[in-house]
This record gives sequence, C-alpha cells and structure tokens, in this order.
Amino acid sequence: MLIDHYSIWNVLRQSLKGHTGWKPAWREPEPKAEYDVVIIGGGGHGLATAYYLAKRYGITNVAVVEKGWIGSGNVGRNTTIVRSNYMLPGNIPFYELALQLWEGLEKDLNYNAMVSQRGILNLYHSDGQRDAYARRGNAMRLHGVDAELLDESQVQSMYPWFDYDNARFPIKGGLIQRRGGTVRHDAVAWGYARAADRLGVDIIQNAEVTAIRIENGRATGIETKRGFIRAKKLALSVAGNSSRVAAMAGLKLPIESHVLQAFVSEGIKPFIDGVVTFGAGHFYISQSDKGGLVFGGDLDGYNSYAQRGNLPVVEDVLEGGMALMPRIGRVRLLRSWGGIMDMSMDGSPIIDKTPIDSLYLNAGWCYGGFKATPAAGLTFAHLIARDEPHDTARAYRLDRFATGRMIDEKGMGNQPNLH
Ligand SMILES: Cc1cc2nc3c(=O)[nH]c(=O)nc-3n(C[C@H](O)[C@H](O)[C@H](O)COP(=O)(O)OP(=O)(O)OC[C@H]3O[C@@H](n4cnc5c(N)ncnc54)[C@H](O)[C@@H]3O)c2cc1C
Repeated sequence: MLIDHYSIWNVLRQSLKGHTGWKPAWREPEPKAEYDVVIIGGGGHGLATAYYLAKRYGITNVAVVEKGWIGSGNVGRNTTIVRSNYMLPGNIPFYELALQLWEGLEKDLNYNAMVSQRGILNLYHSDGQRDAYARRGNAMRLHGVDAELLDESQVQSMYPWFDYDNARFPIKGGLIQRRGGTVRHDAVAWGYARAADRLGVDIIQNAEVTAIRIENGRATGIETKRGFIRAKKLALSVAGNSSRVAAMAGLKLPIESHVLQAFVSEGIKPFIDGVVTFGAGHFYISQSDKGGLVFGGDLDGYNSYAQRGNLPVVEDVLEGGMALMPRIGRVRLLRSWGGIMDMSMDGSPIIDKTPIDSLYLNAGWCYGGFKATPAAGLTFAHLIARDEPHDTARAYRLDRFATGRMIDEKGMGNQPNLH
C-alpha cells in the first residue's frame, strides 16, 4: 500500500525501500462534466481556496483549473516574505489572520513549507520616516500585532555592516516585526495542492480557460483547452491575469497589470538572518537556506502581461542594495525573473461577489499577495460557501472604488504603479 503521511518514521522506512512507496502528491484526474465549485487559477490563492472549501466548509466537489502547471505563476515567483505590518483597519486584521494561519500551516497541511519567522526590519532614514513608522507600529500594537521601533544602535547590533554613514541615506533605526519572515513559496502551492487533493479536490493542469459561459445573467461554466466544464459556482483567482479573465465575463476591473522582478545571487555564507527593507529606495533582501541573496525592488513601471522585466529596474534595484550594503558589490547575480502583478487602484485586494450571479472574484493583490495566501483562501472559501463575506475580509469590496471607501495604505491615490 502506498504511503500518504509525511513523518520522520515514514521517511526512514521509505529510505530503506528507495522511496518507492510514496503516494503521488496529487492525482492527475480527467475533468468531470460538472462541479459544485470551479476555481480558475492554480496559484497559492486558488489552491488554498479549494483546500478550505473542502476542509472548513465541507464542499469537496471542487476543481482547480490551471492554464500551466501549479506554481507556474506568482506563487512560485515571489520573494517569499510574510508579515502583517499593515496600518489601516481593513488590512491589519486580515494580514494578521494570514500570519496566524502561516504559524500553524505545516501541521495543518502535513507539509514542510519552511515557515521561518526570522523577523522583518523596515529601516528609516529621517525623523519624518521614523514618525511614520512609529505610527504604523502603534496601529499594529493597538490591534494586538507585534511591532518594535528600534534606534540606530539597536539596528547596528543586528547588522553591523550596513552603511550607517551614507551621506544621502543615513540609517537612523527601523521598525521590526519579529513574527514576520519567509515561507518557501512553491512548497506552499504543493502543500495546499496535496492537502486539497486528499480531500477530493480535482486539480486540472494544462487547461487554460478561454471563455466563460453566462446564461441569463449567471456564470454557468468555462471553456478550457480540455473541454467545457459546468460549474454551479465559478471563482476567479488568476492574480496578474485577473483583468483578462474577468473580461471573458464582460467585466472591467479596477486593476492594471505590471511586471515585478526578483533576483537571486550565487550562494554565499550566511550573513543576513532576517528580512530587511531599505527605506530610502525600493530594495528588500533576505538570504535563502541555500545561501543565495534573494532581493527585489520596484515595478517595471509599464503595463504588461509578460513574465520578464527590463534592465533599468535591474540597475535601480542593485543601486538600492549597494547604498545599503556596499559589501554585496562583488557578489555575482545568479538569476532573475518577472511576475505579473494585479495592481489595484488603492493597493488593496478585492474578495467579493461580482455583478454576475455565481461569479466570485479574488484579485488586486499587487505585489503583496503571497503573505495573504492562507487568509485569502479561507475568506474566499467562506464567501463562496456562504454567499456572504468573511468578517475579516469585509472591507475588500469591489464597489469601494465607486463608493469611495478606499483602503490606501500608501496614500498614493488611484495610481496603481505607485502602490
Ligand atoms: C517578483 C515577485 C516578488 C514578490 N514578492 C512577494 C513577497 O515577498 N511577499 C508577498 O506577500 N507577495 C509577493 N509577491 C506577490 C505574490 O506573489 C502574489 O500577489 C500572489 O502570489 C498572487 O496570488 P497567487 O499565488 O494565487 O497567484 P499565481 O500563482 O499567479 O496564480 C494565478 C494562476 O492563474 C493562472 N491563470 C491565469 N490565467 C488563466 C487562465 N486563463 N486559465 C487558467 N489559469 C489561468 C496562472 O497560470 C497562475 O498559475 C511577489 C510577486 C513577484 C512576481
């Protein structure tokens, strides 16, 4: 009999048998003619939604329909940072729910997602920036979320080799959330896929959705490269392709798609044990368990559905890194890639019903949706199962752009590329 459960004993037992006795992590089923719920998009959010639909709401006749292979989208392309250091009322409880779910995720899924609460430190470089971080930290603490404001000497004791005397960008301190950190991105997709599959969910790969069927104002199914699939409820969870897929149902979303790049260096000895963000430019960094420096910066700044970026942003990101820590100047870059960001008009996401009956929407994650994965999955599943918003995601309404109830963390206004 094939073995399903991951444990030290089963790993030891299987190591004596050449690991031939494991059950495949998930099945490769043929699509059924009809499902209670069809989720378009096999990214982190789609798979988490399927898992919570089955686990928490008992809805197991579910398919996740993915155009490529699961993990080929942003869930496998991001820089793996998780945190809940938000400031506004709609956001803090939501991202804190996500962080709490991350804390118990590996046990819940029986999967090693390499959850590492190594702390996230946001540096400040001026008195004004310190005041802004103090305000953010206070808002977090008022919601019961951990936050500490550090002065320069406290930051120096953690990272003595930052360029503290940089004439343009002196480092004056930082806001730290010690419970923040990193999670292995593609393991999240695989862990949710395996756990959802075990509960009966069909994961249909290589089945790009090409059309959405609407009958009498109701979404009734999808045309895919593997045929038509009928759905009692249809859920969109396609991140950077949200506007394209929603257009198949005649919807125009308040979303622009932009490219974001990430970079990994050659492996070097451990020297940065947390996540750090530079506050005077757009640059953030952590170090993977293999030793590579994992870092990124700003959007490429133009609308695109391409999963690759351009050289001016490479230069900009590397300049940010050099201003913060000149010692990385001789480290060689190993690889870089791009992902498509569904940038909303206020920088916050949408988890809501659409004006079309039985069509549900999860979108607008900008470049921060990985950390949200468990909470997005849980609250989207709640919305689909109960037809009413989960309390924690009530603010993420689609009509807030018409009613003016924006959740604009950065105060940038409706300029998606600046959020
Ligand atoms: C470089 C980079 C760095 C990032 N860093 C972070 C970070 O550190 N922390 C953080 O919180 N967030 C980060 N993000 C953002 C985060 O990755 C995304 O917001 C999040 O992964 C989006 O949700 P998802 O996982 O469901 O998306 P995806 O994995 O993109 O899932 C969507 C899926 O839909 C599929 N799809 C699209 N169109 C169709 C169709 N027509 N038919 C069928 N399937 C379709 C796609 O193939 C894809 O697999 C980063 C993103 C990038 C690119």
